[in-house]
Order: sequence, then C-alpha cells, then structure tokens
Amino acid sequence: MIDMLRFGILLAALPIVGALVFVANSKPAKDTLWPTSRFTELDRQRSILRGLEFIYASASTPKHFEDNGDNLLWRFYSLSAAAKDPQLKRRAWEMGQERAHAWRKMYPHVPANADAGVIGGLAFGSLSATMLDVPDEVLKAELVKAAHNFKAEDYLNFDPAKEPPPSDVPRTCKKCKSSNPRGTKVCRKCGETLLMNSPYDVLSEALIAAYTTDRYGVWLGGSYEDVAQWIPQMRPYPKPGDKNFRNSPDASYAVTYIVYTLNNYKLYKLRPEWLPQEYAYLKANLEANIAKKDTETLGEFMDTLRSFGVDENDQGMRNGVEFLLAHQNPDGSWGKMEQSDSYVRYRTTWTAMNGIMQYEWRDEGVIFPEALRHIQASEQQ
Ligand SMILES: [Zn+2]
Repeated sequence: MIDMLRFGILLAALPIVGALVFVANSKPAKDTLWPTSRFTELDRQRSILRGLEFIYASASTPKHFEDNGDNLLWRFYSLSAAAKDPQLKRRAWEMGQERAHAWRKMYPHVPANADAGVIGGLAFGSLSATMLDVPDEVLKAELVKAAHNFKAEDYLNFDPAKEPPPSDVPRTCKKCKSSNPRGTKVCRKCGETLLMNSPYDVLSEALIAAYTTDRYGVWLGGSYEDVAQWIPQMRPYPKPGDKNFRNSPDASYAVTYIVYTLNNYKLYKLRPEWLPQEYAYLKANLEANIAKKDTETLGEFMDTLRSFGVDENDQGMRNGVEFLLAHQNPDGSWGKMEQSDSYVRYRTTWTAMNGIMQYEWRDEGVIFPEALRHIQASEQQ
C-alpha cells in the first residue's frame, strides 16, 4: 500500500519534469502513444499491471476462487503466454502458478456425483493448471473416464456432430434461477416465461468446450471440427441491436470466440481473408462499443482485430485505447464498480487490459487448420 502511494506521488510529479524538459529542449519529452494521445507507454504499462493486481485480488478471495477458479487460471496463463511486456508476462505467470497449486489442492479427484457441468469445469481448470506447469495425471485420467458418462447434449445442449447450434435452449429462469431442459418455454419450477439463448450464445459455449476437448483430451461433447463445421451457417452475423436477437447481447461473443479458439487465445496472427465475415463484423462495429461504453465488448473487439493485423495506426483502435485508459476505476478494475458479480468485474477488467496491451504474436496460423479449411471450403460452395 505504501509502495503504491509512493509510486503514485512519483508519477504525479512526472508531468512537471516533462514540462521543464520540454522548455529546455523544445521537443516533447513524454513518449506519448501517438502524437495526439493523452497517454504514454508508461501509463499503459501501469494501467495493465493495476488491472492484473485487481484480478489477482479477486482470485485470492476464497469464495471467488471457488466459483471461478478454472476460468481465472486460464486468464493468468493466457496473459503470460500472449503478452509482449516481460514484466506483465512474469507477474501473470507467478500469480497463475501460485493459484494453480491452490486449485490442485481443492480438486484432487472427480467427485462421485459430478454432473456434466462439473466435469467441464474440472477439465478446463485442469487444462489451465497444466499450461501453468502444474499438471495432475491422476485427475486427468479420472476426467477422461468420467467424461463419457454423459452425452453431447449434457455438455453443449445439442450434438454438434448432428445438428447446428439450436435456438430453443432456454436461459436460466430470471425469477427462480433454475435451469430448464431444451425446448421448455415456461419454467417447470415457477411458471415464469423463459427467454431463449440465441444460437450464437450456444455456439460460443460449444467452441470453448470443443477447444478444451481437443487441447486436453477430455471429451466434452464434440471435437472442434464438429462444432466449427456450423460456422458458415451462422453467417452473416446479425448487427448489434438486431431486433430478432434482442434477448441476447448479439453475435459479438460468437465472433470473438471463433477468433480466440482459432488463434489459440491471442498467440497467432490471422489473415483477414481467412475469416472475412468475422473480420468485417469486428471492424464495422468496433467504435459502436465506445459509444455504448461497453468496455468488455470493446476490449474483445480490439484484441481480436489486433490478431488480424489492425494496429495503433488505425483511428478506431486509437480511440479504443484512449477510451479504456481514460475509464479505469481507482481500484484498477474496469466496468461498473457497483456490479456485485465478481465474475463480471474481473472479466470486464481482463478484456479491457487485453484491448490495450501489446502482444507477442507468433507466426500467421491457426491451431486447428483442418477446421479452418472446412470453414473456407463451405464458404466457397
Ligand atoms: Zn423459474
């Protein structure tokens, strides 16, 4: 706390020093992100590290970690793997490893009464911990075996080997919070009329499960190719706010998760011509997220566009970076501070950080080349 305060005072003094140097040398001493920017590289770095500390504090809160540990581990791993800044990589890796050891102690075995949701969560958490260099072959063997006690529908609400993402999967009842089976229109417990997930939401969930299936070898309802074969049918994507999809955010998550699961969560560069509709959608709707002050979607659009080679010479990208750097909360988070759901709070913070950060891109490519070939072949027909 004291260190942070001192750091703050030192930084507060910097503009004065900068102004003096400016007078003496007749050129700007501040290394701004671009000539018209209000921020410097140091501002960017500090902002991201503060965001990371906020997420770590959330991950270190027992209740939050119990609820979201698998998801948090993946975020630490992904940051450590994808970030360009060595300090950010190192901190995310240290935090991730520490939390991965804690997670392994909490989940040494598959519980006897585990349902498909529990199996899916354990598989994703175990993949994440393994990527953080904390593997557990005993748990993995148990997961591989237990996973086949369930059907594709139990994991994904549909069978991607047989049909496209459906439109009759009800959302959790908003009145009593219970889940209802596919095709149900009225809550079986309380009688409330149920809203449906859009097929884009169903696709997004299925892409993540299929990515886990293929990366970790625990079957969660279908392979990546099974799920990705339906992507051409989901095009063209409805515009944000399309009245036919007013019950769900829109197709944004589906588009960003197609990118993440193909670019291996921000490791590979993608050519726009590989996914032309997705690229065009992101480009066309990027700045609408600034107008709506939708920090979370903005961050996702920015990092997916970076993967397609859109850099900070692009005005939309610059506007996004400026917006995010100007809207960080005093506690290091982004989004609504009054939001009570810890998952929403750290997820919004993470996506904002991902929007402004720089990446250590590997080569051009995708992790599932067969799936991409299939998507492109369907497109040409
Ligand atoms: Zn209900």
